[in-house]
Amino acid sequence: MLRILQLKLPLDYTEEFLYQAAAKELRIPVARIRNVRIRKRSLDARKKQEIHYSAVADAEVEKEESILKKCRNSQIQQVHDVTYVIPECGSVSLKHRPVIVGTGPAGLFCGLLLARAGYRPILLERGEDVEKRTRTVETFWERGILKENSNVQFGEGGAGTFSDGKLNTMVKDTMGRNRFVLETFAEAGADPNILFLNKPHIGTDVLRKVVKNMRQEILDLGGEVWFESQLTDIQMKDGRIDSVTIGKDRRLDCEVLILAIGHSARDTFAMLEKKGIRMSAKSFAVGLRIEHPQSLINKAQYGQENHPLLPAADYKLTRKLQNGRGIYSFCMCPGGYVVNASSEKERIAVNGMSYHARDSRNANSAMIVTVTPEDFGSEGVLAGVKFQQKLEALAWKAGNGSVPVQLFGDFLRKQESRELGDVIPCIKGSWKLSDLRSVLPKFLGDSLEEGVLAFERIIPGFSRYDALFSGVESRTSSPVRIERNEELLSNVAGLYPCGEGAGYAGGITSAAMDGMKTAEAIIKKYTKF
Ligand SMILES: Cc1cc2nc3c(=O)[nH]c(=O)nc-3n(C[C@H](O)[C@H](O)[C@H](O)COP(=O)(O)OP(=O)(O)OC[C@H]3O[C@@H](n4cnc5c(N)ncnc54)[C@H](O)[C@@H]3O)c2cc1C
Repeated sequence: MLRILQLKLPLDYTEEFLYQAAAKELRIPVARIRNVRIRKRSLDARKKQEIHYSAVADAEVEKEESILKKCRNSQIQQVHDVTYVIPECGSVSLKHRPVIVGTGPAGLFCGLLLARAGYRPILLERGEDVEKRTRTVETFWERGILKENSNVQFGEGGAGTFSDGKLNTMVKDTMGRNRFVLETFAEAGADPNILFLNKPHIGTDVLRKVVKNMRQEILDLGGEVWFESQLTDIQMKDGRIDSVTIGKDRRLDCEVLILAIGHSARDTFAMLEKKGIRMSAKSFAVGLRIEHPQSLINKAQYGQENHPLLPAADYKLTRKLQNGRGIYSFCMCPGGYVVNASSEKERIAVNGMSYHARDSRNANSAMIVTVTPEDFGSEGVLAGVKFQQKLEALAWKAGNGSVPVQLFGDFLRKQESRELGDVIPCIKGSWKLSDLRSVLPKFLGDSLEEGVLAFERIIPGFSRYDALFSGVESRTSSPVRIERNEELLSNVAGLYPCGEGAGYAGGITSAAMDGMKTAEAIIKKYTKF
């Protein structure tokens, strides 16, 4: 296969145009091309008058060598696809089926690989299945009734289910795991364009179906998924995992336990710490979510408020601050919603989501600043959790139980907001105009002020008076790391910590890839169950 590394395509290109463009690059007649497939496509909007796609395309042709010789163009390479292969099974026998805690991306992909390899895993999920969970979350957003075990953080599909489902990752991958994750999502119902878009996203409405289809495959392969089944305790014997407790007193024997519990399983972190599982406090980032009219972002990125051929525009902002810290935009949701993503009573945490169409009137992202153990003090391994909980409790108070919202102009003047400007919140859950700045530690308030004012130079209107802050954005990654060795084992034999909660991933795709790595380690060691 010949890969064309840079193919310039107009926004309304056709299949025919694609073949002609490839033939031109390869200097051969179109008829000699058997097939062309876009491998990667990104938008080049640097020149507003000439916005176009820049694509990487794979062409199947005869006599590749002669074309390569004739082209002598470094932008054309001969490539062979890396197909992901599940490793061969090991030789250690298993008395019990592997148990996976959590059905987020890490748990689901770990479960899918173990099921495909014949291990018939049991997945425990403290939350509800995705259908029931969706109703529970909508009831929470509409009427403020929170279920602490089934909400935006907990339940089938994990934290990412009510998200924009952005699938980018910085994780380097030579094994083909990243592609496998995208292909699996596409097979399970995601838009196939995730296979080539530079910034693929699924959208929360589609993700719910995808998660359900993946669950069904695990069940069809002899696996089991137990919902409303919270891991509450673990039992060890001779330094290895021996059984687990589910809920009040239900016991399940196991010698292989995978912890894919996510960044918000604070009660489970506390139980693991008591049980002597080696963990450490980890840096993470906190801040507020900011909302602007989507048209303002489109104008900045495309040069016009509504481009007939382009989706809602996104942005990525980062800056080093005078106080030496960094501020950056995180989990940007074009045409999206701010969501009340709380999981504990009298505490408010927000995040962002978009539907596949990305068609709400606002764009939002988290403006966040890194905090380190130096910031949240040395109250032990869970000091970061306590720091998050304190901020979330202050936010709950400031909003009187609703999501607190403050106009950026009032934030600058350190005064409570009393009325909106032209920007109307797009928030899932009730909200209340408040004084959010009073909730934040001084370094954080000052960092947000300096950062947003600085981003005005990149996106005109970014620091407008009526841009909306809501908060707090406290669950950006895990505040702890559960130690593991090269075999991906914790200090207890048979216990495998993985995914975002354990501190080895950040985001849907990297969590899924870490779940796959963990399944591979188990498959290479043990025989099928
Ligand atoms: C609103 C929102 C939007 C997001 N948007 C994006 C995005 O667009 N793109 C992106 O890449 N990332 C996004 N993220 C982050 C992403 O969701 C996470 O990085 C990812 O889901 C981590 O996967 P995980 O499997 O490690 O953990 P989670 O997805 O957190 O899954 C952990 C699961 O374990 C379960 N669990 C926890 N404790 C127990 C227990 N004791 N017993 C049984 N079950 C338990 C939980 O209920 C949960 O279902 C978003 C997160 C949120 C909250």
